Amino acid sequence: MPLTLYNTMSRRKEELRPIDPRNVRMYVCGPTVYDFAHIGNARPVVVFDVLFRLLRREYGEAHVTYVRNITDVEDKINAAAKERGETIRDLTERTAKAFREDMAALGALPPTHEPRATEHIPQMIAMIATLIARGHAYEAEGHVLFQIATMKEYGRLSRRTLDEMIDGARVEVAPYKRDPGDFVLWKPSPPDLPGWESPWGRGRPGWHIECSAMSESLLGEHFDIHGGGLDLIFPHHENEIAQSLCAHEGRPFVDIWMHNGFLTVSGEKMSKSLGNFVTVHELLREWPGEVIRLALLSGHYREPLDFSAERLEQAKQMLDRFYRAIGEAAKTGTRLRHDDHEPAAVIAALTDDLNTPLALAGMHEALHALNASLQRAPEEAAEKAAMLRAGGALLGLLQQDPARWLKGEADDAAAIEDAIRRRNAARKAKDFALADRIRAELAGQGIVLEDKPGGKTEWRRA
Ligand code: AMP
Ligand code: ZN
Repeated sequence: MPLTLYNTMSRRKEELRPIDPRNVRMYVCGPTVYDFAHIGNARPVVVFDVLFRLLRREYGEAHVTYVRNITDVEDKINAAAKERGETIRDLTERTAKAFREDMAALGALPPTHEPRATEHIPQMIAMIATLIARGHAYEAEGHVLFQIATMKEYGRLSRRTLDEMIDGARVEVAPYKRDPGDFVLWKPSPPDLPGWESPWGRGRPGWHIECSAMSESLLGEHFDIHGGGLDLIFPHHENEIAQSLCAHEGRPFVDIWMHNGFLTVSGEKMSKSLGNFVTVHELLREWPGEVIRLALLSGHYREPLDFSAERLEQAKQMLDRFYRAIGEAAKTGTRLRHDDHEPAAVIAALTDDLNTPLALAGMHEALHALNASLQRAPEEAAEKAAMLRAGGALLGLLQQDPARWLKGEADDAAAIEDAIRRRNAARKAKDFALADRIRAELAGQGIVLEDKPGGKTEWRRA
């Protein structure tokens, strides 16, 4: 089924036509690791996780590469480390680990690659040197700046005029800038801050160049999808486009730009600076990760989503209804006649620009059908429950043991067992790349596999 996605660049829905269907490539801007992620930061993670699952279903698990970076060099990190009396390395390690655990608890699959900015400094230096050589960047007082006047299409993604952009970005007016809109590619670092030797002295990269260099390293010059929250359109993505296009002499960069809307609290964007945030870590003490995930998927990703206890309560009740019916179906003891397949309405909704509220309506229809057969034709219940679970898998929901869920002992044992079965099937089919990937994904969630003689695989928490 064709997959259509809204492209911020064209302001239209477009059919995804992968550059290489054997390797569909997506890059999503990841966290700056200085503090726990708030639930607004989790929105893009969960939204693009659904897209990752959909792409894997469409093109095969081994044919999708998903990169989500970790920004571990940035001024906010330096300030936070100083304030807490912690080394920068300790702070970024601890925060990246907490981020990984929080996102796993929300049912997000680990991306294929999670590059750290500090591991790609040579690539950033090389890209900056290319931009200088091509006349798009200049050095001034130890800084290297991108000169926006050298790029004709600057502003195409955000559709802003230069004046609007300068106002919007609250750009720093510095004496060494030729134009106030010019942005930093490299800046000097004093001895007490992280820094790397470069042709322009000891320094550190600007934020935007990190993503241009990391996407090029892991996905190549041209890839299919680039995502992030709405606030990244300008200046971050506009600047990524400027850097990558100019470094690559105008060759294509990204085919589809996708942006999620804001998670709001009483209508206002949730953010660290406004102080109206709640961390994923805190929420997980009160709610199962699956409830939080469903709450995040209950609105369309491009619309604002107002977050409230009521929304979480509704999500909890909805999951209870699903799990109750699936549990009842298991008790009928009937067997599956067909392979699992997702309800058609769920696929139709998700392939139309990731319409998760409509997909959830499709899941409700499937639930009604299951409840009807539990009453009138129990021999059909197992089939319908399997469909519901298959639809759930695409949304990252309903993979737990229903009996345990209903007892409030939510865990992911069923999902783990399922992954082990898929890995064993892959090994049997000699698809060792896929088998290794499944093992790595489980490892990312802290699950260690042990292959026993006789073909049995056991698992434990690391
Ligand atoms: P930051 O750490 O602020 O760079 O944010 C990391 C990711 O979360 C980016 O993709 C942001 O666009 C996104 N984000 C931040 N705040 C919100 C919010 N309130 N709602 C939705 N996405 C957000
Ligand atoms: Zn980025």
